[in-house]
Amino acid sequence: MTQDKTADSGIENEVSKGNKFQKPKGVHDILPDTHEYFTFVKKVVRHRCRQSGFRRISTPIFEFTDVFKRSIGNDTDIVSKEMYTFQDRKGRSLTLKPEGTAGVVRSYIEHNMQLLPQPVELYYIEPHFRYDRPQKGRFRQFWQFGFEMIGESDPALDAQLIHLAHLINEDLGVAELFKLQINSIGCMKKECRPRYMTDLKNFYFGKERSLCENCKGRTEKNPLRLLDCKEEDCVILAGLAPTLKDYLCPECKEYHEQLLDLLKALDIEYVENPSLVRGLDYYTKTVFEFWDRETGAQNAIGGGGRYDGLVEIMGGQPTPAVGFAAGIERIVDNMKREHIQVPRKDNLHVFVAQLGYEAKKKCLKLIQKLRDVGIKTVGALGKASIKAQLHLADRFQAPYTIIMGITEVRDNTAIIRDMKRGSQKIVSYDKVLDEMKKLIGEESLDTYSPGEVVY
Ligand SMILES: [Zn+2]
Ligand SMILES: [Zn+2]
Repeated sequence: MTQDKTADSGIENEVSKGNKFQKPKGVHDILPDTHEYFTFVKKVVRHRCRQSGFRRISTPIFEFTDVFKRSIGNDTDIVSKEMYTFQDRKGRSLTLKPEGTAGVVRSYIEHNMQLLPQPVELYYIEPHFRYDRPQKGRFRQFWQFGFEMIGESDPALDAQLIHLAHLINEDLGVAELFKLQINSIGCMKKECRPRYMTDLKNFYFGKERSLCENCKGRTEKNPLRLLDCKEEDCVILAGLAPTLKDYLCPECKEYHEQLLDLLKALDIEYVENPSLVRGLDYYTKTVFEFWDRETGAQNAIGGGGRYDGLVEIMGGQPTPAVGFAAGIERIVDNMKREHIQVPRKDNLHVFVAQLGYEAKKKCLKLIQKLRDVGIKTVGALGKASIKAQLHLADRFQAPYTIIMGITEVRDNTAIIRDMKRGSQKIVSYDKVLDEMKKLIGEESLDTYSPGEVVY
């Protein structure tokens, strides 16, 4: 029933087949079997973030378009090609969030979070939207979790953030599949990145013809992006281009060396990657990504970096910050590929079958009592025969079935059937609950407590 089929085979613009609708291209249904993975990932993220003092934030699904234009940068792929932008009924331009940092920074400024103890540590688990070319593990609506540390600058913070991401990968069982790629893209001081950008533009001057179509327009507007193009000719040229590392100002250089030293101290394996620049304008100093060990950047599961200039660009006081984000669909894909099992919480304990109106009445009460003590129960409350209901119980894969018919109502009993063994016994109606608890075992009960609430 719940077999996932995420591969997209639809034809562009096809709304329906016959008179049946189908989902738009590039989005996917998260069916119950996959939700068990999503739930597990979210749980691990919440747990690790809480341990590290991060608190959860949710920003709106849409923001004013300028929030993204100003933060991510007009010349990036995201802003120029991938945003879902629309006008509301009053003609305001709004955009579905393509990434998480811009909204969090907007919120930090709007709510005066600079007055809180710094750094302010926030995490989110949210859907995001990009009009991207659909491919395996890449969707137009996708889930990301991410964390931001806003308000302080120190290599130790970058190291902690990377460590947090690494721990989450470990908990999810995918750490071995990915290797940390790291680079520094310097700062906005004249003698640092700007000097490099001038030399980089000069290097590409007159070489436009050798670049791919995508890159031809980038030499003036966004030459850093030329370095991480995957087209063969662009890769060759990028190999000959000057390296940012040789241009870093003394402060950026020392910052990066310290960060690498701290990563070593935390036993985090890394690769120094001088061509790693990330697709967003707002990064300064540290940038990093977790790459698939075998296939590389195409299948990165996440990345981040320091963005010391962004709060100011967004209208706040100059405030340093560092962040990370990862795609949940990709992680889940990898977990499935590696046959990583997550706790299955949806499996049923008991199926209740009944015959006759009086039995149905008693079963309704019994089902609620079973559920209240944490026994996951479904009942066949229709008019099917006992035989048909037992067949249904098999399909639900419940290990036990409780059967109540006319005889059991008269004798105030119920039959408990062990579905695997095919054996059954008759129990007094008042003892059913205790008997079931014993059979299922205290540790397997799905108890729920809302906790203590103060009014
Ligand atoms: Zn610098
Ligand atoms: Zn290119």
